[in-house]
Amino acid sequence: MRPSIIVHGGAGDIPDELREAHRRGTQRAAEAGWTVLAAGGSALDAVEAAVVVMEDDETFDAGRGAFLNADGQVELDAGCMDGAGLQVGAVASVQFIQNPIRLARTVMEKSEHVLLVGQGAQRFAHKMGFATCDLTDLAVPREFERWQKLLYDRTHSARKSFARASDTVGCVALDRAGHMAAGTSTGGVPNKMPGRVGDVPMVGCGFYADDQYGGASTTGWGESIAKVLLARLALHHLEVLGDPRAAAQAAIAVLEEKVNGLGGVILLAPDGRPGWHYNTPWMAYAYQAGDMAQPTVGQ
Ligand code: ASP
Repeated sequence: MRPSIIVHGGAGDIPDELREAHRRGTQRAAEAGWTVLAAGGSALDAVEAAVVVMEDDETFDAGRGAFLNADGQVELDAGCMDGAGLQVGAVASVQFIQNPIRLARTVMEKSEHVLLVGQGAQRFAHKMGFATCDLTDLAVPREFERWQKLLYDRTHSARKSFARASDTVGCVALDRAGHMAAGTSTGGVPNKMPGRVGDVPMVGCGFYADDQYGGASTTGWGESIAKVLLARLALHHLEVLGDPRAAAQAAIAVLEEKVNGLGGVILLAPDGRPGWHYNTPWMAYAYQAGDMAQPTVGQ
């Protein structure tokens, strides 16, 4: 099988001055994942490697650089899926963990559950030997400033904020053995209510992978994405239409028509053909496959 990988760095209206950092960040992530695939590594390892690069890059709303909640705290959500056996792992509202995608994968591989939240997820991380970090390792000055401004903005709403900024990260990969994996990681929405969980850690909403049908990762206004199960919906359209780009468009059309939603989706067909679409002004993505020397970066 010809391996391939696609990553996204969030769908939204990314300000001009931040766009280059988004392009570069998604390119570096795709390269990291590609290195794993090119060496014969698994799709799941490639997804983890790519997402970790973007969690560590403060450009994005995931891991370091995440948005703060209304209390000025960081609460992170992440989920991943192995399309070989439909294994799923996810975490929600975790604090003080820099790479929640790794914790999500550990939930999948080392627990009998699919989703752990808050304190319980934290305790599980501790038990599994994860290092904890401080709030200041995750919350960068840019986000402290955004948080302070929004505290006094009475017109602030989740939907409005997704039309502006959103830098959730995600990845879908297909390995040589023909296995598919997908993963997504986020800090959610700026000034979210403490305890708010969006689409990202919910299987079928923020991510989905099935060797038979393909893989998908989504981004955007989580409350709308969750209502249409955007990741699984995109794979349903792929099965019906056969073309990943048309499938991505069809899924985003449903998101818009049914729930006035905003967002984007990336997907891979079971044979590795990529698709992506978004109804926000911008979404950075990068794709690499076969004998391409470097990823194609787009928006
Ligand atoms: N979907 C994410 C959430 O609602 C945010 C994003 O994609 O930017 O938490």
